[in-house]
Amino acid sequence: MTEMNPDALVTIVGGGVHGVHLAVRLLQADLIAPSELRIVDPSGLLKSFRQKCRQCGMVEFRSPFVHHVATDPFSLRDFARARGREDELRSTTVGAERPTASLFFDHAEWVCDRHNLESIHIDARATAIRDNRGAVEIETTQGRISTRWCLLAIGHGRSFTDPEWATELVSTQPVTHVWDPTFDPDSIGETSSVGIVGGGITATQLATTLAQMPGRDVVLFARSPFRVETLEASTDWMHFSGVTEKLHAHPPASRAREELVAEARNDGAMPPYVFRRLRRSLEQGQIKLERSEIAVATEAGGTVVITCRDGSAYCLDKLVCATGFGSPYDGELFRHLRRDSGLQTGYHGAPVLDDDTLRWMRQDGTPSQIVVSGVAAQQVLGPFARNVIGARRAGELVVGFLESEFDVEKRGARL
Ligand SMILES: Cc1cc2nc3c(=O)[nH]c(=O)nc-3n(C[C@H](O)[C@H](O)[C@H](O)COP(=O)(O)OP(=O)(O)OC[C@H]3O[C@@H](n4cnc5c(N)ncnc54)[C@H](O)[C@@H]3O)c2cc1C
Repeated sequence: MTEMNPDALVTIVGGGVHGVHLAVRLLQADLIAPSELRIVDPSGLLKSFRQKCRQCGMVEFRSPFVHHVATDPFSLRDFARARGREDELRSTTVGAERPTASLFFDHAEWVCDRHNLESIHIDARATAIRDNRGAVEIETTQGRISTRWCLLAIGHGRSFTDPEWATELVSTQPVTHVWDPTFDPDSIGETSSVGIVGGGITATQLATTLAQMPGRDVVLFARSPFRVETLEASTDWMHFSGVTEKLHAHPPASRAREELVAEARNDGAMPPYVFRRLRRSLEQGQIKLERSEIAVATEAGGTVVITCRDGSAYCLDKLVCATGFGSPYDGELFRHLRRDSGLQTGYHGAPVLDDDTLRWMRQDGTPSQIVVSGVAAQQVLGPFARNVIGARRAGELVVGFLESEFDVEKRGARL
């Protein structure tokens, strides 16, 4: 483990797509030396996202090849060309080509290596963050870090949603959630019967992946009609101008903003290439579709017995809930920040952020030195805040304002 520097200039909490991209931006802009930067993450750089892609059987990215963790938009395409991997850029009926997951992650690893990010990674979980004006104190499982700026990029922070009937059962052997860190699709037996709950992209990808094993019985419990959409929201939101002004017209961290983002997101929808795969599997009888809602699930000697509202019943070896993430403001760290800090929060605990800089506002109305990137910044950046393009936008904003902050500090030091 890297030895802790108690006086890091910038500490990034979370080493996913957002944390890694922010680090790359800061280093590439020469705003900061590697010795002044830290990334705190207990899972390793990008490992948690890589694991999620594997857990749901995702082999291709939904976003185009210009969305990745480096700064040059064509970096991933050039990386593929230089290695003869152009066939891993998959064509689409609309828009640009999309990378395979293995190309995306190989490129991301190459970017991390080029910036030697492993050397500034601290293998620890942040358990508390305090804004002490002038410095931010971060408690971690490996000790305390004192930093001038804290960039918070923790994604959903292990918050995911289970159906009501599963709350008693989840994490028992036969019932799990797809985002449970212990869920491993490879551990499902070749001749097992497995149910997947959900009708969106994650459930569908998992069902079609598991159904590739001919001896397995796969049942997809999808109560709502399937929706097909190429992207998570209209491309207007990807430009972070014009349409985001509609958000900013409402008070920060308000119910109106939250509802606007929810309306704009095509949650529960899947892109055409995923739907085609599902249709094929259904036609070939590899997946059985159950439209009735699950009413009761009971564990019985290592299996789970399901009864649906229409009276149909199943006995399964495994039941996987692919029923989405929970609120991004409900993870442990956010709850702690809400309770113990002088920072402003609003509707459902959303952080009150400055629209131009993503800085979390203090209760006295001044901006703190804590900056939020990722899904928790969706009330500022809109429905793509959580996506790779959202990390790129957050990177532009953070580098922009830190540049002027550091200039002011340098001028102050010279006086
Ligand atoms: C299966 C899947 C496929 C997706 N596909 C696409 C796509 O094709 N295109 C696209 O643009 N977007 C896609 N997304 C959306 C988005 O890009 C990803 O969710 C991305 O991982 C978000 O990055 P992040 O850094 O915000 O969060 P994460 O990748 O979740 O990273 C957060 C990191 O923070 C760490 N962390 C959490 N809590 C703490 C703590 N207390 N202390 C320290 N570290 C902590 C975690 O260990 C983790 O490594 C996809 C999402 C999923 C789940």
